Amino acid sequence: MLKTGCFLLIALIASAHAAVPSLKVLIAKSLSNVVVEGMDLHKTIHTLKKSQQYRGRKSISFNCRPQLRKKLTVQSSPLLIASLSSPTGLISWGKHKYQGELHLLADPKTERCDLVNFIPLEAYITTLLAKEMNGTWPLEALKAQAVAARTYALDRVRKSHGGKLYDLESSEKDQVSGTFFDATEKTLRASKETEGEILIGPSGKIAPAFFHSKCGGKTLRPDQVWGGVEEGYRSVNCTFCQKTGMKDWNAKLQNKKLVDMVDQVLKKYYSDKIIDHNIKIMPDSLHNSELRIYAGDRLHIVKKSYLRNLAGRGILPSNNFIMSNKNQEIHVEGQGYGHGVGLCQLGALELAKRGYDYRQILSFYFPRHKIKTAYQQ
Ligand SMILES: [Zn+2]
Repeated sequence: MLKTGCFLLIALIASAHAAVPSLKVLIAKSLSNVVVEGMDLHKTIHTLKKSQQYRGRKSISFNCRPQLRKKLTVQSSPLLIASLSSPTGLISWGKHKYQGELHLLADPKTERCDLVNFIPLEAYITTLLAKEMNGTWPLEALKAQAVAARTYALDRVRKSHGGKLYDLESSEKDQVSGTFFDATEKTLRASKETEGEILIGPSGKIAPAFFHSKCGGKTLRPDQVWGGVEEGYRSVNCTFCQKTGMKDWNAKLQNKKLVDMVDQVLKKYYSDKIIDHNIKIMPDSLHNSELRIYAGDRLHIVKKSYLRNLAGRGILPSNNFIMSNKNQEIHVEGQGYGHGVGLCQLGALELAKRGYDYRQILSFYFPRHKIKTAYQQ
C-alpha cells in the first residue's frame, strides 16, 4: 500500500509540470473557516499584496468574515483573498490532499469563503476518473472518459480566458474531481496514455464533450436538453448500458403538481404561462425530447429536460421518459440516469468489457468528432 502510494506520489508530481495547462476548480463553497496545511508553505495575501514563506510543516487558519469586512464597501463580487502553495506540490485542506495551489475566495454576498484548487490538467484528470467513473473499471473505458473530461475542462478554461476566479466546479453541475489519494495506478495510466488528447468537432474546433451515467437506450443531442446547438452531436442508440446501473424507473405526480411545473417552465424558458388548469398530455414516446400538453384548448410544447431541472433528479432521474394522464394522476415511466448527452458511462464500461478500445468507444458516442492532441509535455 505504502509502495503504491509512493509510486503515485512520484509519478503524479512528475506529471505536474511542463506544458500541461492548469485549471481552477471550485472545490468547496460557503466556508466560515479554512485551515490549510503543508510543508514550507508559501502564502500570498492578495488583499494586502504580501507574501510569506514558512519553514517546515505549517498549518494556516483563515477566518473568512473579517477578511471581507475590510473590503465590503468596495467589493460586490467574489474576491481572491489568498493563494497557498508548497514546493512539495501537495497541500492539504482538512483531511483532503491536493496537487497544485489552493486559492481562497471571499464572497461578499454570503460573507463566507470558497476554495479553489489550481491544478495541472493531467493531474486533475487522474483524480476525476476515480470519481466520475471508478478507478477499477477497464482501462479503455477510463481512457475514453479521460479524453471526454479533458475536452470538457479545456473548453471551460479556454472560454474563461484565465480571467475568472475559477473555470469549473467539482460537482455534478460540471464534473466531479477527487483529491490526490483518489487517483489509482489505473487512472494515472488512463490519463498518461491519452495525454493531451481532446475531441474536436467537424469544423476542427474544440467540442464541449458531455457525458452522463446511463442513457437508458438512446443518447440525446445538447439542443434536445439545453437548447443550444453544439456542432457534430448525434443521438445514438445504445443498448450497452441496459443491464447495469439504475433499473427502469417510474414516478407519479398529481395533476396540480404538473400544472405548476409546466407553468414555471413556460414562464422561465418560453415567456408564456398556463391559463387553463385543465391539462391533457398528448401521446408521448421515448423518442420525443419534448412534451406536448393541452391546457384547455391551448397546446404547449415544453422540453422534458426543463421539467426535470425543475422536478429534480429524485423525481425524474433522466430526460428519457414517457409521461401520460392516468385517472387523476400523471404517470411517468423512464430509463437511464443523467442528462443523456454524449458519452454513456455504463455503455462505455460494457463496450470496454467487450474489447472496444477508447477510440472506438468515443467514435461510437461522438461519431462525427475526431481525437486531436492539444498539448504534450
Ligand atoms: Zn447507454
